[in-house]
Amino acid sequence: MVKVRFAPSPTGNLHIGGARTALFNWMYARSQGGQFVLRIEDTDQERSKPEYEKEILDSMTWLGLSWDEFYKQSDRFEIYREYAQRLVAEQKAYHDGTAVILSVAKGRNVVFDDMIRDRITVSTDELKDQVLMKSDGSPAYSFSCVIDDALMGITHVIRGEDHISNTPKQILMYEAMGFKVPKFAHLPLIMGADGARLSKRFGAVAVSDYRKEGFLPDALVNYLLLLGWSPGGAQEIVSLKNAVEKFSIRKINKTAAQFNLEKLKWINGEYIKKCSVCDLVEQIIPVLQSEGYIGDVFDRKWLENSVSLFRTRMLTLLDFIERADFLFKDELVIADELKSEHFRPQTAPVFCALAQRLEALTDFNAFTAETAFRELVAAQGLSASDLVHPVRVALTGRTIGPGLFETMSVLGKERTISRLRQISS
Ligand code: GLU
Repeated sequence: MVKVRFAPSPTGNLHIGGARTALFNWMYARSQGGQFVLRIEDTDQERSKPEYEKEILDSMTWLGLSWDEFYKQSDRFEIYREYAQRLVAEQKAYHDGTAVILSVAKGRNVVFDDMIRDRITVSTDELKDQVLMKSDGSPAYSFSCVIDDALMGITHVIRGEDHISNTPKQILMYEAMGFKVPKFAHLPLIMGADGARLSKRFGAVAVSDYRKEGFLPDALVNYLLLLGWSPGGAQEIVSLKNAVEKFSIRKINKTAAQFNLEKLKWINGEYIKKCSVCDLVEQIIPVLQSEGYIGDVFDRKWLENSVSLFRTRMLTLLDFIERADFLFKDELVIADELKSEHFRPQTAPVFCALAQRLEALTDFNAFTAETAFRELVAAQGLSASDLVHPVRVALTGRTIGPGLFETMSVLGKERTISRLRQISS
C-alpha cells in the first residue's frame, strides 16, 4: 500500500511551498487508495514553536488536507538514540564527544531513480561522514527523518527539490540500518514573479495570510495543484476530486513553477462566483466580525442580499469588505473631491424630490425604487444618467458599484432616504 507523509518543521507558518508539497502527497495518497501521514519534525527545540505547529495544523485543516496518522518527533527521541547506539555497536558510526557520526566509505556511487528527475548519481567521495546525533542529544534532521520514514512504512518520499542533496546521504543511512529505501520524488521549486525563490520578501507566503486576505480554501488548493502539475489541456479550474482522479507523479514538471498572484486571484474570483451565496456568507461572517462590521447578532437574510450584490465583482472576500463598507456604516463620509465633482447647487432639490418619492413607496425594492427614480427624471426633464452618478455617490461614497436600484434595495428605505436628505440639507 502506498503511504506518504508531509513532514513540516514547526519553525514557521505553513507556507505556499509547504502546502503544495502537502497537497501533492495528499493527492498521491488519495489517488492510490493509500495513506497520508502528518509528521511534525520538531527536533530543533530552539526553533520549533507550539504556535507554529498549531498554525500548520489549522492551515492543513482549512485546506481540507486530512491525515490518517499523526506523529511528533519530539515524542520519539528514545527511538533515535537507540538506533544511533546500535550503529555505534555495529561500528558503522562513531562518537565525537557526545555526537554520533556515520562513517561514509569513499569510492562508490549512490544511485536513485527520482520519479520526477530520473536517475541521480552521487559519488560518496563528495560526501562527508554524516552527523546522526548532535552533541546536544538531539537527532540530526536526516537521521530522524530516515528512521521515521522507515518505521512508519513510507513508500514514497515526495518533497521539495531543496532536499535533493539530502537524499544520497539519507540513502546511506537507510542502508546502514538495513531499511528498505523508499521511492523519491523531488518537486520543482516555486519562484516568485521576479524569478527568485519564493520568500518572505515576496509578500504573503503563509497559507494563513491568504486566508486572512479572503481567499477560499478550494481556490487556493486549485491554484496550488497547478504549480508544477496540470490535469492536461488548458483546464485551470480543477476540483480536487477531479485532480485526484488524474494525478500522476510522473507528470509533474521538472522546471520551477512560478507563483502568480493575479492568476490566484482570478481563480479565487471564479470560486466565489461558483460558491452558493449561503456558503459565501458563511465564509464572510468571520471576516466581517474581525473587521468589526457585524457583531454576534446580525440579519442573515440581509447579509445574503448584500453579498449577492457583489458576488460577481469580487476576487477575494476582502473585496467585499472594501467595496460594501457603505452598507455597514450608519454615517457615510464622502470625500470632498467626490462632492465637488458630483454635487451641483441644483442637486440638492432633486435629491430632496427623489427622497420624497421614495418615502411614499409602501413596498420599497429595486423595481419600485427604479420606477420612482424614472418618474422623477421624466417629471423634471432630466436624463437618468445625469442623476445616477450623484445618487450613487450620495448613497455609497463611490462612483462605481453594483446596480443602483439593487444597491438602494439592500441599503434599505430608511438609509437611502436619509443619505439623500443629508446631502440636500
Ligand atoms: N522537516 C523537513 C522540512 O520541513 C522535511 C523534509 C522532508 O520532507 O524530508 O523541510
